[in-house]
Amino acid sequence: MKFSLLHPRVQLVTIMERIYGYGMTTTSGGNLSILDENGDMWITPAGVDKGTLKPQDIICVKPDGTMVGPHKPSSEYPFHRAIYQKRPDFRAIVHAHPPALIAFSIARQIPNTRIIPQAHTVCGQVGYAPYRLPGSLELGAVIADTFAQGFDVVLLENHGVVAGGESLLGAFQRFETLDFCARTLIQAHSVGEVHSLTDDEIALTRKHGEKLPTFKPTFHTSRERELRQHIIDLVHRAYDQRLMTSTAGTVSARVDENSFLITPYGLDRLYLDLDDIVLIRDGQRERRKQPSRATRLHMAIYQAHPEIGAIISAQSPNAVAYCVTRRKLDTRTIPESYIVLRDIPLLPYGVQFGDGKKIIKQLGKDKPVLLLENDAILTTGATLMQAFDRLEVAEFSAQAVIATTHIGELVPIGAEEVKELEAKFLS
Ligand code: 13P
Ligand code: ZN
Repeated sequence: MKFSLLHPRVQLVTIMERIYGYGMTTTSGGNLSILDENGDMWITPAGVDKGTLKPQDIICVKPDGTMVGPHKPSSEYPFHRAIYQKRPDFRAIVHAHPPALIAFSIARQIPNTRIIPQAHTVCGQVGYAPYRLPGSLELGAVIADTFAQGFDVVLLENHGVVAGGESLLGAFQRFETLDFCARTLIQAHSVGEVHSLTDDEIALTRKHGEKLPTFKPTFHTSRERELRQHIIDLVHRAYDQRLMTSTAGTVSARVDENSFLITPYGLDRLYLDLDDIVLIRDGQRERRKQPSRATRLHMAIYQAHPEIGAIISAQSPNAVAYCVTRRKLDTRTIPESYIVLRDIPLLPYGVQFGDGKKIIKQLGKDKPVLLLENDAILTTGATLMQAFDRLEVAEFSAQAVIATTHIGELVPIGAEEVKELEAKFLS
């Protein structure tokens, strides 16, 4: 879906639904705006239920200050206006109070985005604006001054967060990615010390994703068409379960010996269409499409492991809490976890950007899941469903182990019981 072609009113309502629907704002909190080519500012209204906003509720503020619409504009209109004045590159602003970011805002700490390269690329350094009265010109001034220093996202002391961007979708993705960092860091706090990436380590991702030659498909088999739909359904499901974010998460599925389908690079995970999924055949990509930067890695895995039919790499906050603290996740918790996941190796940062040999070597029948330091969880399966189940079980297991730290100590299943499980379920 080409989100930018929607009318600003529809864009604002769609993104507010998304923010409200995923628990990132309340009925009364948050506001969004778009500045269009005419200089008209489209902004959400003040005091109208954010859970049921309609396109006709959106207010249009003309360049001369005239307001058109059935309500008052957001009480934070002054800070929206002040930010656009200081940052002419912005065309949209997102503000809300998601719980994980409020935690940082009230602890007066800035969330670290150097925990995974993609989060740092999307958010950059996070700015910090001191507390001022909501709706005041003073609040507008301190936020706009912070954005003027070059930050694209700013934490508001004892209030929430503001993200800007060249489009509403871009500002939302920045906001959501920062919220993901905050949720991951909170979980990581119970696991161990968080490892921050250096600029050089982050730069490694730029060398990655060399383009494949293209081909023009002359036919699409029924199996391929079915798999396209299945990939989209599972990406949406993973997004809904908060196992992926709008900007991260890759899914691929083998079509036959020489071809597989993979999710595209850079498109919002919630708005993928059948046509966005990229067919890779004999080492070539479908023309005019940009597949995930992990395509070469997936290709190498399919070549080396004929038993693997699907691969997912994703960023879910509890599993990634182990990646960013570089700690092993114990899967000997309940029979389901061990049967579905086996033991999960933790691989050093960077192995996924090279030839993938270390990943290929680690993967196997008894090692279907890997944790990649400061990056992602990688799951494989004979089918898409199996790889997806492994992602879900890993995230649940990580969540349970982290929750255990609040109430007591994990008592794992013993070696004898593990042998018994292997004999009964895994031989
Ligand atoms: P409005 O409903 O007036 O936009 O206010 C919500 C908010 O978050 C104030 O900071
Ligand atoms: Zn607010």
